[in-house]
Amino acid sequence: SECSGTEELKAKVVPEIKFTKLFINGQFVDAVSGNTFETVDPRTGEVLATVAAGDKADVDLAVKAARHAFDRGPWPRLAGRERAKILMKFADLIDAHAEELATLDSLDAGKLFALGKLLDIPDSAETLRYFAGAADKIHGETLKMSGEMQGYTLREPIGVAGLIIPWNFPSTMFFVKVSPALAAGCTVIVKPAEQTPLSALFYANLAKEAGIPDGVLNVITGFGPTAGAALSSHMDVDKISFTGSTEVGRLVMEAAAKSNLKSVTLELGGKSPLIIFDDADVDMAGEVCVAASRVFVQEGIYDEFVRKSAEKAKSWRVGDPFDPSVDQGPQVDEGQFQKVLSYIEHGKTEGATLLTGGKRCGEKGYYIEPTIFTDVKDDMKIAREEIFGPVMSIMKFKTIEEAIERANNTRYGLAAGVVTNNINTANRMSRSVRAGNIWVNCYFAFDRDCPFGGFKMSGFGKDNGLAALDGFLLTKSVVTPVYDSPW
Ligand code: ADP
Repeated sequence: SECSGTEELKAKVVPEIKFTKLFINGQFVDAVSGNTFETVDPRTGEVLATVAAGDKADVDLAVKAARHAFDRGPWPRLAGRERAKILMKFADLIDAHAEELATLDSLDAGKLFALGKLLDIPDSAETLRYFAGAADKIHGETLKMSGEMQGYTLREPIGVAGLIIPWNFPSTMFFVKVSPALAAGCTVIVKPAEQTPLSALFYANLAKEAGIPDGVLNVITGFGPTAGAALSSHMDVDKISFTGSTEVGRLVMEAAAKSNLKSVTLELGGKSPLIIFDDADVDMAGEVCVAASRVFVQEGIYDEFVRKSAEKAKSWRVGDPFDPSVDQGPQVDEGQFQKVLSYIEHGKTEGATLLTGGKRCGEKGYYIEPTIFTDVKDDMKIAREEIFGPVMSIMKFKTIEEAIERANNTRYGLAAGVVTNNINTANRMSRSVRAGNIWVNCYFAFDRDCPFGGFKMSGFGKDNGLAALDGFLLTKSVVTPVYDSPW
């Protein structure tokens, strides 16, 4: 692969980082403890900003504000269309600041700037608009019951929601969680990942400018075991929607159970298979496989697929995320960088064949070469655990039965991809693979109206789609007698 690294930074001048404090009850404030932490530029490993480190005392203040805004404030009581108007304005402000927001995510997370500006940021605004459009279409049912009694259901916001998000899509994940929650009439406390706190704070400021009342949207930056744990174990939080590792998801659910049995949605890890059949167009399969980590290829096209993948990896450009010709930026921080490199070492010692890559790229920053292993066995660590880096494992299979069995031979069930020109194969795979999301002749395709969420140890509940709105609503049944009714 071509590795330009960061010999010469392509960033426009690093902009002034305006928001580095906690956002509680409509104000930017220091942590009660006065503690801060540093977030780094993954292109260089240098400090980008010093950010307030929220902990239990700050979570208490934020929950108090959110509780008050929910119990006494206008937000849940507004007509849906009034909430929608404010959310639409919020969305317009995001579009107006797309360049600055994409810059923040590139600096903080190493995300490709061009993609951020063209996709992540405008998509975030569109997600807000989608849920804003649903805010005035939330309604229950009328139930005839016995005839002497009748009932109806109300759909009510669940209350104060804690939203804990990871670093891989800082903007997208923020709005995947915040949009349905606010549309439903909930008030929220967002805990962004410690690696990527900056855009969340910028969004807090835009929310205020859009007219979201104080206390409705709060942002607590800080670490998981402190700020995140305080949120998931809080007695006054009604719901946690979490995206992150299976390991931490288990802690979140445990904290929820041990405190107030708050409702939980978990979007956890995966080891999603991509299964490519002999009849597939190899070039198309090559395009599709970019984001895949566990690729099963049928024996008839295995050699050709491996050859083409190697070629593709060699032409893949790794470097500064602000350079428009670059395909892949750095890993988000030192921790992730070391973790990915250690998985690569495991792959080598466990006997997989290193086809391409396998090393860091350049001397500075957290760049890793696109890495492909072949001859990977299902029980190797690189085939079983989620890597979250540019590492692909290619495996060979013979029959569709074998593909189904091996694809399902994992504790995870997040997603799966199938590449085939045979409709019967596509249908059979779609129904046989136990995963919450199946991509046929595509991979990693998301949309706000398409529910996303895993099976098995990948979690439960959905992000996106009206199913996500449901996750922030409760159903209340109201029953009353119907006097004088013969029915
Ligand atoms: P990843 O492996 O993608 O970094 P994590 O599950 O470690 O995912 O982190 C996802 C989010 O969960 C982050 O915002 C992180 O701070 C938070 N987190 C980590 N530990 C805990 C915890 N014990 N309780 C609540 N949140 C946590």
